[in-house]
Amino acid sequence: MELSEFSIIERFFTSKSHKHSQVQLGVGDDCAVLGMAEDCEWVVTVDTMVEGVHFFPNTQPEFLAHKLLAVNLSDLSSMGARPVAITLALTLPAFDEDWLQRFSDRLFQLTDRFEVDLIGGDTTSGPLTLTLQALGLVPKGRALCRHQAKVGDLIYLTGFLGDAGLGLKVVQGYDLEDSQSVLKRFHCPDPRVAIGSIILPYANACIDISDGLLSDLGHVLKKSRVGANLYWEQLPLSSQVRSYIYETNDWKMPLNGGDDYELCFTVSPENQQRLESCLSEQPVMCSQIGVVEAGDALFLTKSGVRESVVATGFQHFG
Ligand code: ADP
Ligand code: MG
Repeated sequence: MELSEFSIIERFFTSKSHKHSQVQLGVGDDCAVLGMAEDCEWVVTVDTMVEGVHFFPNTQPEFLAHKLLAVNLSDLSSMGARPVAITLALTLPAFDEDWLQRFSDRLFQLTDRFEVDLIGGDTTSGPLTLTLQALGLVPKGRALCRHQAKVGDLIYLTGFLGDAGLGLKVVQGYDLEDSQSVLKRFHCPDPRVAIGSIILPYANACIDISDGLLSDLGHVLKKSRVGANLYWEQLPLSSQVRSYIYETNDWKMPLNGGDDYELCFTVSPENQQRLESCLSEQPVMCSQIGVVEAGDALFLTKSGVRESVVATGFQHFG
């Protein structure tokens, strides 16, 4: 049976209740209605994934739902915002019930896990394109921006670097013995939602790693009009990435590989101790990987040798 646009919305994308008091009206009217949040500001982001550009044809719908939500929640987290609501615009080549059920199941699993409400969207037919907008709240005037890194700040990174990049290589045919964890990091990244809120009082600047550490940290440095030095030996590399580098000598992969969705943030030395004691209670590891310096260049110190490095991360129209 061919499903209509309206029955798709009702069956797969309408939640029975909302988690947040700000959501006064969700899916089902011309617009959603959000209440104001006292002493807070709304933080809004949107990301699109196009088949053949951002993901391979026939990618599992669970992976698509997961990544689509994760990349947006990662953006909110990098501003220090708590996620509240999402809207979802789907362009589908066909109304495939099985695909929709799997996509919707994973989406709602994650909206429960990250406590976010689906409040609206749009459903159209055409080449497979997925767009998700996320709205979060941050205390007034406190959003963590890219332009506030200061000379002397310590640079931190959550989790591991390069796992998703290696996952992509495996998808493209690289033969790795123990590939399960890097494939998971590529297809189903974990947005660092809890950490975004924890670092908010201590961090000066923050960004999430979507296009590669050098490229994304480069944005922070440029906006803050500073430079930085990274320490190779302090980069958090998994055993899989280490053995990939050992085998291929491609040590730049973790620096330029995208899709990690880890948070990279800067903290003044005065805040280091308080920050580290808050982070020590988290299940996700955080590593200090460098320092912010005067100037505008990005350096890497590797085996005692300091050299300037340039990003070769992914760019559309690049
Ligand atoms: P309109 O024609 O007024 O734009 P639509 O028919 O596009 O309304 O959508 C009807 C309702 O369903 C709206 O509340 C809209 O936000 C919601 N909606 C449509 N598609 C989706 C979707 N994929 N996910 C969640 N909500 C959706
Ligand atoms: Mg519409």
